[in-house]
Amino acid sequence: MPRLSEVIAALEKLWPAERAESWDAVGTVVGDPGQEVGRVLFAVDPVRETVDEAVALGADLLVTHHPLYLRGTTTVAASTFKGRVVHTLIKHDIALHVAHTNADTADPGVSDALAGALGLRVVRPLVPDATDPAGRRGLGRVCALDHPLTVRELADRAAARLPATAQGIRVAGDPDALVRTVAVSGGSGDSLFDHVRAAGADAFLTADLRHHPASEARAHGPLALLDAAHWATEWPWCELAASQLDEISDRHGWDLRVHVSATVTDPWTSHSPSPGAPN
Ligand SMILES: [Zn+2]
Repeated sequence: MPRLSEVIAALEKLWPAERAESWDAVGTVVGDPGQEVGRVLFAVDPVRETVDEAVALGADLLVTHHPLYLRGTTTVAASTFKGRVVHTLIKHDIALHVAHTNADTADPGVSDALAGALGLRVVRPLVPDATDPAGRRGLGRVCALDHPLTVRELADRAAARLPATAQGIRVAGDPDALVRTVAVSGGSGDSLFDHVRAAGADAFLTADLRHHPASEARAHGPLALLDAAHWATEWPWCELAASQLDEISDRHGWDLRVHVSATVTDPWTSHSPSPGAPN
């Protein structure tokens, strides 16, 4: 069985910490570099539910996309919910490692996994990383549909192929418009509209679209918006990352058991459609 330090070194090769945004907090949050790792769980959120899942599974390492402490802290007292997470992890000898914006822009990264889940062919990054001569790393992805779909068909496909959430997929735009080029970005994407327009996309699939950016984007032109639950757009990365670590484990002759969290940690839990609203 590998030591935690060996597994972390492999993860750092996939998602180097120096490629994270300056405001981000990635890397190892909890863990003894010398401890042995036999079982790994990937999840989007480091919250009580996924930590409980890691405990039940007998995991030695929990890898999450979202940071536990993004802005620092002065306490890990178990009276706070994040402190309780730290206590539970340490009591059960479970390490926590975070790959956030360094996984977003990786090749392959979070939006490749999202595109893959939707069966979309990735053409290039939506916002290329200028430091990548191959032009493959960056934020979001521009994808081509070899067989155009209508906006409604694309939304239905996203609803069917992404993990089920109360929200489903919200759509802005003509449901019968044809989509040949679609921009996708896992997580909050409403800062990317200029890039989406520059890419000539017919549709943009992302999460957390707010009223004003969405309204202004619609006023600019016929771009269709597909808004999924933030968690659902990032969850496919867990499967991608798990398969990457599985492959590394095989290559090193490690006997790692790699799992993907089945717990829905989208905070929204139910949805009441307005009577008479269009669907
Ligand atoms: Zn996110």
